[in-house]
Amino acid sequence: MSVFTHPDFDHHEQVVFCHDEASGLRAIIAIHDTTLGPALGGCRMFPYASDDDALCDVLRLSRGMTLKSSLAGLKLGGGKAVIIGDPHTGKSQALLHAMGDFVDSLGGRYITAADSGTGEPEMQAFAQRTRHVIGATPRTTVDGSIASGDPSPSTALGVFVGLREAVRQRLGRDDLAGLKVAIQGVGHVGLGLARHLKQAGAELWVCDIFDANVRQAMEELGANAVRPHDIYGLDVDVFAPCAMGGILNAETLQSLRAPVIAGAANNQLASPEIGVELQRRNHLYAPDYAINAGGIIDVYYQRIGGSAAQSDAHVRSIGDTLREIFNRATASGEPTSIIADHLALERLQTGDALRPAEQRLHA
Ligand code: NAD
Repeated sequence: MSVFTHPDFDHHEQVVFCHDEASGLRAIIAIHDTTLGPALGGCRMFPYASDDDALCDVLRLSRGMTLKSSLAGLKLGGGKAVIIGDPHTGKSQALLHAMGDFVDSLGGRYITAADSGTGEPEMQAFAQRTRHVIGATPRTTVDGSIASGDPSPSTALGVFVGLREAVRQRLGRDDLAGLKVAIQGVGHVGLGLARHLKQAGAELWVCDIFDANVRQAMEELGANAVRPHDIYGLDVDVFAPCAMGGILNAETLQSLRAPVIAGAANNQLASPEIGVELQRRNHLYAPDYAINAGGIIDVYYQRIGGSAAQSDAHVRSIGDTLREIFNRATASGEPTSIIADHLALERLQTGDALRPAEQRLHA
């Protein structure tokens, strides 16, 4: 396993391999770029088949966080952590405390949050060892109720707003009544997105490898259930990937029919070439880290002590960001995935990531 010459290394500032003999912790923290601020990104727990798989995942995700925060106009850098282990059976307080100690040892260069396989209880355990953690305490939502620090409702809202913009752009319609949407994965974000879509009058098709989640979407929202393998070939208006990465690839592209692809999953493109191929086939792809930025925006406002209303307004601006990406793609003839990268890097290089409202907040 190489690090500096790893294909996904891409100028990372720091990669920390964390091992605690006593608790069995094995983890990697990757800090990609701190130009715009401390590296903020979730801590994922997953039973990776190999150390190399874990390294690939953390490097790709942490670079993605740099681009995501830059594009979302946040004063944050990009980082991510992965714990190698089964999230259902592999957690102990000692292991989580050891991870909290490693996060703390970076002195705030990396700030952690919940991700796949971790949630509020894990953040509370980290918080016993470090202050560089977000999502450990409840907060007030935009309607005044008290909610956990889980950012997935904001991610779902951002995806909904972005999906609506993509539909406007590609299908020329504002009204979502009767829109046919296929959602891959109805977990935290996918189910939240399904609720927004149902309220807007859309028709839903869902799949999940966890049957209880499919049942909930059927019973609560009247969604149609399909087998995971059949989700790609449905004759729908929108395909919303909300499960795992790499699902837009040479094989799935053969069956994909939806003109719009807009969902929450990170790293949806198996390779950058797939973005070009999607454009060639006339699918409008909403770049993953642009449309799924609601969670990091939410976490950011929790960090700076901003209000739920500020966070909500910022999440809703994801629609404007996507409109800019789509318009630039139309004007230049380049794929949306490449335009998003250009825009994020442009803001990173010019230090222009902060929107005027944000600049006021930091003044
Ligand atoms: P989650 O674990 O709650 O939900 C994912 C769902 O996908 C689960 O129900 C799982 O059973 C299902 N799934 C897994 N493999 C599948 C497959 N092959 N086919 C169909 N379903 C499958 O996770 P989440 O928090 O809802 O996140 C979903 C995606 O969005 C992930 O890729 C995540 O990285 C990304 N994301 C999440 C957030 C957030 O705020 N939670 C923010 C940004 C990006």
